[in-house]
Amino acid sequence: MKKLNLNESFISRIWMNPSNYGELRTTEGKVVEVLSYGKPNFDSGADFSDSIVKIDGVLYSGDIEIHCSVKDWKIHKHTKNRKYNKVILNVVMWGDESDDAMPKTARRTIPTVILSEFLSRSIHEIWKDLINNPAPAFLLPCSREIGNLDRATVKSWLNELGMERLKYRAERIKRRLETLKSETQSADGKFAWETALMEFVFEALGFSKNKEPFLKLAGMLDISKIRLCCKTHDDFDALLYGCSGLFTGHRDAYAYRIKSKWNLIQEELKSEAMDRSEWNFFRLRPVNFPTLRMAYASGFLMELAKGDLFRRLVFCFKNSPETVKDITGILLGIEYSDYWKTHYDFGKESKAEKTAAGQSRAEDIITNVVLPLMHVYSREFRDDDLLVKTKRIYMNGDDNSDNVILKMMKKQLGLRPSSICESQGVIHLHNFYCSKERCSECRIGEKVFERFSVSEAIPETIYS
Ligand code: SF4
Repeated sequence: MKKLNLNESFISRIWMNPSNYGELRTTEGKVVEVLSYGKPNFDSGADFSDSIVKIDGVLYSGDIEIHCSVKDWKIHKHTKNRKYNKVILNVVMWGDESDDAMPKTARRTIPTVILSEFLSRSIHEIWKDLINNPAPAFLLPCSREIGNLDRATVKSWLNELGMERLKYRAERIKRRLETLKSETQSADGKFAWETALMEFVFEALGFSKNKEPFLKLAGMLDISKIRLCCKTHDDFDALLYGCSGLFTGHRDAYAYRIKSKWNLIQEELKSEAMDRSEWNFFRLRPVNFPTLRMAYASGFLMELAKGDLFRRLVFCFKNSPETVKDITGILLGIEYSDYWKTHYDFGKESKAEKTAAGQSRAEDIITNVVLPLMHVYSREFRDDDLLVKTKRIYMNGDDNSDNVILKMMKKQLGLRPSSICESQGVIHLHNFYCSKERCSECRIGEKVFERFSVSEAIPETIYS
């Protein structure tokens, strides 16, 4: 079976449905029985807590960790992390050749199940099944009652949550800026604003599947040094494709040229390089491949390091009467190498011309990065007009964003968000309330569940 780079939430969903596999055994051949899958953990630490399994007839209770491959335990540095001391079972999709990749804590080896060896159907069939038949567990517990609620209550709650989300994002940027300023040891934090903008734009370019590797890559880049040794698009491509480890063995004229440049740049900057396996390609359309997004990241970094992109964005935000349209224009105007207009990976040509980041990505960057950044900037420089403008755009700006969470939530809440703020409120509701089972602190939950008697069980528990 080809080893696909599957993400852990997909593997978790395969794991939680026992019809997807037959009798399980550890890598040592011991029979594994699952008595309780436990509770999904959305914070740091193992993926499931309070699980109960029997291994060769012996009962264990503790945490279960999910990985794509055996070696991920080591790569994710769990061995010395005390949060993983309670792991009783490591479930991975793929095995590895080497014995020293076997997961361990400081004191013991963790029993491991290689799921791919026990699957009852092909991964493709399981995936189709998951898409076509979402489990009842993915229904909001309030979904049957929400239609009876007053719309104004729901909308006002979403707007409140939307503002909470803006502040949450702004706070992340502010904290990162403080760290960057202390690292550069200068009062004005030379390039701190540019670096923060780069990091959060890179994160946005990664979507949900590649935001971690994009953030890791951004953390390896020092704008103050890069601007001295990178001058052309080829230089910036060499730096980003080299550092990200996204090169393949393919050699055409472009690949050859930037690999050669990467050798020189790596020597000069003493750069580390990531591995291509850290990037996710599975279940992504080619237009969302990290290789294609990287072309935009490269052009963006060039404008930041060599041009005056940060200053232009602030100037436009303050002065333009059509702010969103003009900022979108700046983001869509980022130039990148021609090679990536006709390729989505090294040596993989596409029939139609490709866009490394289109209208919806630009809007996403405005919502998730530019508006929170302006919030922080206006407070830092005590610019009240800028703060008012930022909030006005956020609360009234048209929203066209769509993603899996928004689709699922909109359908179950039975509404269409009418502004950036409302749409962000929906995401915040999902991430910080529904997924964490905080129904009792949610305005919708307060109204819906007051109809149930205290002893009556809530219909379903989300994500359990
Ligand atoms: S947190 Fe609110 S919206 Fe989410 S499931 Fe609970 S009651 Fe419904």
